Amino acid sequence: MPLHLNRRGFLASTAGFLALHPFSLRAAANQAHLRIMETTDLHVHVHPYDYYADRPTDTVGLSRVASIVQDIRDEATNSILLDNGDFLQGNPMGDYIAYERGMKDGDMHPIITAMNVLGFDGSTLGNHEFNYGLDFLSKTIAGAEFPVVCANVVKQTGASPREDTPLVPPYVILDRSLTDGAGTTHDIRIGLIGFVPPQVMTWDRRHLEGNVEARDIVAAARAWVPQLREEGADIVIALAHTGIGPAEATDGMENAAIPLAGVDGIDVILTGHSHLVFPSPTYEDVPGLDVANGTINGKPGVMGGFWGSHMGLIDLMLERDGSGWRVLSHDIEARPIFERAEDRSITPLVGDYQPVLDATQKVHEETLAYVRRAVGNTDAPLHSYFALVADDPSVQVVSNAQRWYIEQMMQGTEHEGIPILSAAAPFKAGGRGGPDYYTDVPKGPVAIKNVSDLYLYPNTVRAVRVTGDQVKGWLERSAGMFNQVEPGATDAPLLNPDFPSYNFDVIDGVTYQIDLSEPAMFDREGNVVNPDANRIRDLRYDGQPIDPDQEFIIATNNYRAGGGGSFPGTGDTIIFEGPDTNRDVIVRYIVQQGTINPKADFNWRFAPMEGTSVIFETGPAGAKYSDSLQDMQLEEVGTNEDGFAQFRLML
Ligand code: MN
Ligand code: MG
Repeated sequence: MPLHLNRRGFLASTAGFLALHPFSLRAAANQAHLRIMETTDLHVHVHPYDYYADRPTDTVGLSRVASIVQDIRDEATNSILLDNGDFLQGNPMGDYIAYERGMKDGDMHPIITAMNVLGFDGSTLGNHEFNYGLDFLSKTIAGAEFPVVCANVVKQTGASPREDTPLVPPYVILDRSLTDGAGTTHDIRIGLIGFVPPQVMTWDRRHLEGNVEARDIVAAARAWVPQLREEGADIVIALAHTGIGPAEATDGMENAAIPLAGVDGIDVILTGHSHLVFPSPTYEDVPGLDVANGTINGKPGVMGGFWGSHMGLIDLMLERDGSGWRVLSHDIEARPIFERAEDRSITPLVGDYQPVLDATQKVHEETLAYVRRAVGNTDAPLHSYFALVADDPSVQVVSNAQRWYIEQMMQGTEHEGIPILSAAAPFKAGGRGGPDYYTDVPKGPVAIKNVSDLYLYPNTVRAVRVTGDQVKGWLERSAGMFNQVEPGATDAPLLNPDFPSYNFDVIDGVTYQIDLSEPAMFDREGNVVNPDANRIRDLRYDGQPIDPDQEFIIATNNYRAGGGGSFPGTGDTIIFEGPDTNRDVIVRYIVQQGTINPKADFNWRFAPMEGTSVIFETGPAGAKYSDSLQDMQLEEVGTNEDGFAQFRLML
């Protein structure tokens, strides 16, 4: 595209007048401005659409980032566009292609179609590229009009990394020309080398075991980067699908960006995987990082958010140095596609790039049909109207799917054989959301869009390893959901309105009763206020009273496992960090099971209290399910001023 430079150094473009980057203005003869653009963790977000909620959104979409690609290119004399992996899976469009349409030889995957439209110069493999198997992956990248590189997942390891049998090329050297400040063009050789967390061997064992092998990221870099230099790469860009984690290298580390940036010969590091933004205040005061200068271990680095939320920009001022180039200075930015105000409202900062939408419109429409159509069947209604007073199908299905997933992940690990429990809480359970804010999926077909109802948050799956004592503590913490009830009371208010339902974890795999005559052990924040309180009664595993010293694994989410809600047994007990969202796991569970039977198993109940009744509120539409609650003595007694139905429960 021809650039039209006016006297003040501004470019005319489709979006109006753009400021040239200072490096482009300042470059002298034999100096050149090279802009590196990064997208990362796109997860098939091509259109600005939330398929789970079945509505448009302004926070995602390659079409949005794409609208600024041309402007961003126009701000710089020279630029390249790179993707950092995790493009293939992570939303219903990806599931639609994988589970429904399939990839035959010659088929185009919509994310690749979109990337081709934009003229990407290269990409690497993220961990999610392996989710649908190697055959699916190779058919997908066959359509890419750009190289896809990865140095540390290989068909077969050799005696050293350079003797490995590659799965995709470990690196590529792009021969490009750069225009310098005097308008003269010069050759440059740009090396791209890719890395992915070796944990893929666990996360996608069923696809990868026996077919590929993984190496440590830093070890692979140390072996390969010198070869890029030997072959004449002027600069080396690491496409590192890895997060910014510990500064110290450990063998096989998942988030290796800091030690990787320290490898000699790497000039620039593109990171991702953690779905965060670098530079940003998130990373202030982290050893090895300089947020003000945008450096990781002294090298220019960036992380461009996720789902197309940002474009990562690394501007390099290069100078000719003999026959090659060296980096004189750099400038780093992660440019967002939207702004979130303090009241959490969203303002889009960019529009769509129509050619990306047009090229993928048909698949978008097919995906809409897919999320609205049944993908499985439920033998029981999935509702949350009584989730706070009895074991509940909407919580049960989440719990079952988590347990199903963690069982697979524990196979072949040191944790195999330890009993697996599963913790889940009702998210849509009235409260401040109002009397209609409940999950209500009737018996029969289940559509993908229903799953967002079952799991509201984009949490990822975790497993923690805890003791029987911690299981009890976890449940005591949960039981803060309820007010203390005087034995013999009439119509005592049951639910503590200050306690959020997402902290009411039910643990499946054990049975227990909740004794409401006892005070809560914890306050709302999770501080112990009644150390001797004992609400959790008759806690049993496998029919036997739980042994406080026995070890258990609990399947849960990143929020809880990381200490959210300050539950006993969380914070420092994580043994497994899944790359998959709980929502994806539920979709996969439903698709694979075909028919699910999420009937609550009534593994918990209130301890009986003679002659005592409590009142609780739920959505009026729940009345139709009230007789599904086994032998509970329930009656609807009225409606409160907020429109909630009031029920009386005889304890
Ligand atoms: Mn990702
Ligand atoms: Mg249950």
